[in-house]
Amino acid sequence: MSTGTSQQAYIVRESSIHNKGVFAARVVRKGEQIIQYKGEKISKKESERRALLHYDDSVRTGSGAVYLFILNKKYDVDGSMEWNIARLINHSCEPNCEAVIIQGKIWVIAKRRIKEGEELAFDYGFDLDCWQDHPCRCGKQNCPGYIAGKQYWRKLRKLIAERDAVHAEIFASKPSKKKSTTSAKKIGKSAQSAT
Ligand SMILES: [Zn+2]
Repeated sequence: MSTGTSQQAYIVRESSIHNKGVFAARVVRKGEQIIQYKGEKISKKESERRALLHYDDSVRTGSGAVYLFILNKKYDVDGSMEWNIARLINHSCEPNCEAVIIQGKIWVIAKRRIKEGEELAFDYGFDLDCWQDHPCRCGKQNCPGYIAGKQYWRKLRKLIAERDAVHAEIFASKPSKKKSTTSAKKIGKSAQSAT
């Protein structure tokens, strides 16, 4: 990768989607490898352990950041380190980039030509575990309101409708015994298995 500052394709600055974001510092060609998603290569078991840790943290601090990335069937990449600039790239439901694995490395590449100053985004492709923890602020027309891979959108919309129906029910019923405060993960899971 070229390291010449005038050639560097990206720059970090404040984003309207979420906190900081990564933006095109110049015109980016379609298919260009913009930035590598770096991190620590870890086993699935370790990844699961860290995911739970992150989850506990996010419940405590209210920040729902997830930086675990599927590399292949055996390994994931934990990209939570500060030196992984690509962790700042936001999700979009209509992204201009995609994350692609090239020779065992995760690259963020341009899905189309990107103009200078455009915010870079890719589809995080989350499954529906903990979907309620990841509201999407991409502002795209088709955005279902939460971050999830496109293949989950139909199911996600159903889950949202079910959730809203349950909320309406709780609102309408007299306060009886306190509902247990299950995590979003559990709510998501039970709603899934009920279908
Ligand atoms: Zn969205």
